[in-house]
Amino acid sequence: MQLHQMWIQGKWVDAEAGKTYPVYNPATAGKIAELPLGGKADVDKAVIAAREAFPVWSKKPQAERSQIAIKIAALMQENAGEIGKIDTMEHGTPTKTAAASVVISSQRFEWAAYNARSLMGHTVPSNPDELVYLQREPIGVIAIITPWNVPLAMVVGKLAPALALGNTCVIKPPSINSLTTLKLAELLDKLNLPPGTVNIVTGPGGVVGEALASHPGVDMVGFTGSCETGKVIMGLASKTVKRLQLELGGKNPVIILDDADIDTAVVDLVTGQFRNSGQICGSPGRYYVHEKVYDEFLGKYTAAATKLVVGDPTDEKTQMGPLVSAEHRNRVENYVQSAIDEGAKVILGGKRPAAPPMNQGYWVMPTIITGVKQNMTVAKEEIFGPVACFMEPFSSDDQVLEMANDNVFGLTSYVWTNDRARGMRFANELQAGTVQIGHSAGSGPELPWGGYKESGIGKEGSIYNLYEYTNLKRVQVDLRTQKK
Ligand code: NDP
Repeated sequence: MQLHQMWIQGKWVDAEAGKTYPVYNPATAGKIAELPLGGKADVDKAVIAAREAFPVWSKKPQAERSQIAIKIAALMQENAGEIGKIDTMEHGTPTKTAAASVVISSQRFEWAAYNARSLMGHTVPSNPDELVYLQREPIGVIAIITPWNVPLAMVVGKLAPALALGNTCVIKPPSINSLTTLKLAELLDKLNLPPGTVNIVTGPGGVVGEALASHPGVDMVGFTGSCETGKVIMGLASKTVKRLQLELGGKNPVIILDDADIDTAVVDLVTGQFRNSGQICGSPGRYYVHEKVYDEFLGKYTAAATKLVVGDPTDEKTQMGPLVSAEHRNRVENYVQSAIDEGAKVILGGKRPAAPPMNQGYWVMPTIITGVKQNMTVAKEEIFGPVACFMEPFSSDDQVLEMANDNVFGLTSYVWTNDRARGMRFANELQAGTVQIGHSAGSGPELPWGGYKESGIGKEGSIYNLYEYTNLKRVQVDLRTQKK
């Protein structure tokens, strides 16, 4: 029963109030577990445990912490098959990719482990009579609050750097799919960490998440999720001026210029759009296609999307599974309806599959909407589902740049052209944390990921992320006053 309890101070426990809540398999709508319904008392317990563990964990030699992070990576890799099965059951991730995605996540621990060992300070030559140096120190207790879209990867992206650098953590995983995170705790439990180094409290964001974001014992919140929740967390965290790292939403423009390699772009973008049923913050959000290649691109894109194998995620052939919940499916359907109401046209999908077994779970078929205008809801807001929005064709680079930047988000962007100089102009002028020219590949731990504007604050991955999980201290010694 371990997987169905919380992990606080190195012990598997029920919620203080003794309450539980059900979680469901999104492919079948069948109940799979009852998890502890955590509350403020559980958060208090976990934060106290993390505070007590901090002096012990943060004072361990960096080499020892890094070796533990490497062991965590190895345990994740050994257990990737089992964790993948849990992910398929609680999230609907196709079996084809589930275990591989655990292995990819585990590399975050390896990368953080190696790079934490060489996170050097600097000396500053400001005055010959002084020694001035900068050193990096762990921050303290980090609250990690994460979304349901790639549940374990989102936790690991923050836990790996935080832990490797000497912080202690309280994790609030997404309430509808916490099981992979609890499985990770089962692996951590084998490593004899100081009790309370990592704690997990399950339960709803409005209670557990808010209690963490406002807790005076928490020094930093690492949050990934929606922009709305990010703003609430900023407000709560401001009361004790906590450090914040926020990875929020996106409405990512895809720009297909008239000299692009259309066939390569179609294969790449259809894969990127419908991966994880479109529930990825970096998914293409708005397609801007040059008028000269619009018909060719749309025709080939539609043909490729029609061929996607949608179905039972436990089937090895399946490329796209269900959406994560009935609530989210309804939200996606409402967006599709809003597009129709505002004058756009659905040319593919838009409906729930009627035939068994897909009529049981939470599916929306791959969907393509055309005739989308800048002021429509689906052009402005993140759908987070298997829905490709084609804007009206454009005719000039200046025009498309203005439209692509006309959005409150600035997470990532995609440009397809065979002209490098033209591509570089877009790289310079697009207001986004990432500009991907000619491909939409994933992000390794060495690459920074994080948005401009309302897409967030700070970076996930890369050395910049390691900086975020440390405080920078300036030590200034007046050499003239030091006699010995
Ligand atoms: P939410 O913002 O709804 O939830 C994220 C987490 O915050 C969950 O653990 C949730 O708990 C918790 N939460 C909810 N309300 C509060 C609150 N008032 N105070 C504190 N915590 C709270 O996001 P979703 O789970 O719906 O995830 C989808 C969003 O995540 C999309 O907008 C997507 O773009 C974004 N995202 C961004 C990424 C990036 O790198 N920029 C990567 C992945 C996703 P509970 O589960 O109980 O609701």
